Amino acid sequence: MRFLRSVENQTLLAIVVGILLGLYLPQLATSIQLVGELFLRLLKMIIAPLIFASVFVSLSGLGSLRKVREIGGKTVAYYLTTTAFSVTAGLVLVNIIKPGREIHFFQKTETAEIGHFGLRDLFFSLIPANPIKSLAEAEVLPIIFFALILGLATLNLREEKKRLLFDLFEALNDALITLIRAIVRLTPFGVLAIVANIVAEKGLSPLFHLWEYVLTVAAGLLIHAALTLGFLLATLGGTSPLKYFLAVREALLVAFSTASSSATLPISLEVAEERAGVPKKVAGFVLPLGATINMDGTALYEAVAALFIANAYQIELSLGQQMVIFLTATLASIGAAGIPSAGLVTMTMVLQAVGLPLEGIGLILAVDRFLDMLRTAVNVWGDLIGARIITRLTES
Ligand code: ASP
Repeated sequence: MRFLRSVENQTLLAIVVGILLGLYLPQLATSIQLVGELFLRLLKMIIAPLIFASVFVSLSGLGSLRKVREIGGKTVAYYLTTTAFSVTAGLVLVNIIKPGREIHFFQKTETAEIGHFGLRDLFFSLIPANPIKSLAEAEVLPIIFFALILGLATLNLREEKKRLLFDLFEALNDALITLIRAIVRLTPFGVLAIVANIVAEKGLSPLFHLWEYVLTVAAGLLIHAALTLGFLLATLGGTSPLKYFLAVREALLVAFSTASSSATLPISLEVAEERAGVPKKVAGFVLPLGATINMDGTALYEAVAALFIANAYQIELSLGQQMVIFLTATLASIGAAGIPSAGLVTMTMVLQAVGLPLEGIGLILAVDRFLDMLRTAVNVWGDLIGARIITRLTES
């Protein structure tokens, strides 16, 4: 049974078994609902500590304010801008294609509860009145805001104290990543229970409608990777996108097949230095940072997935709420680790930020691995283009 050794194949089997259970043994399907709920709870459990630790570590890991200003500033500005472009492409597409409209998961009752969320609320929701409360309630934006300014403040401390805090949160971050890996191994069980339940309750139609969602994410990724990043590469990076693609294709293939930016990092470093004309000192800083914080594909997917879930539950999102999705998807992608399914974990934050039902994740789980492979390839492509552009910008 070598086929069943990998989590992806187990998940595929779980989808098939889940569908069969939902169709032929609906009562059993309903009684295992608990398993799906527990799986989602495990994902949710990680959110608050993970986002805090990973944002804090990325920033304080830069070491000094001077470094933040010099390379860090340019790199982070470039990464943030491209991620914002990517989310925008996703949001525009999802508003045009409107995947999930036909699913009709819930009555319209939830709309009123979360209906009024304007720009003023957005700014107010950024700054925590009490960071401990924000952590306790997994309020994403205030946690990120607090982690960022605390990270910056840490850079002013004496070396030993700086080290102490960095080591502490880096260890916490590593432990959380180990936990995520363990939780991801349970995906087949969660998927089986959730798919069985959806099919028992609603039949096969919600699963059929997933193709619209897959198409929206894939089209968004293609537009971002080929047009936006391609344009930036040609203008700021001074090379033809096709030529660059051929030079770095090995890293993209590894990213696609492992669905992990971190696992791809050694190959990205090698192709950047050997074949893409990126000097070691730039690659050594820009690529590891990119593998941790620059995830254009993940950000796009999170925004599209959140709107798909809103559509499926018949929840109208105001412009203000879409702004919150724009911000949280950008920030949550920074908080996502470069490992398989990390985007799925941080997506719970995006949903949470605008009060969308967390169970909605159940809908998209079935196709998540495939989309993970696509978005990881785009994440790595974005890092490699970043390396080339930063090289040119720091040369002149
Ligand atoms: N797997 C992605 C990466 O490693 C993160 C994600 O799940 O979106 O880049």
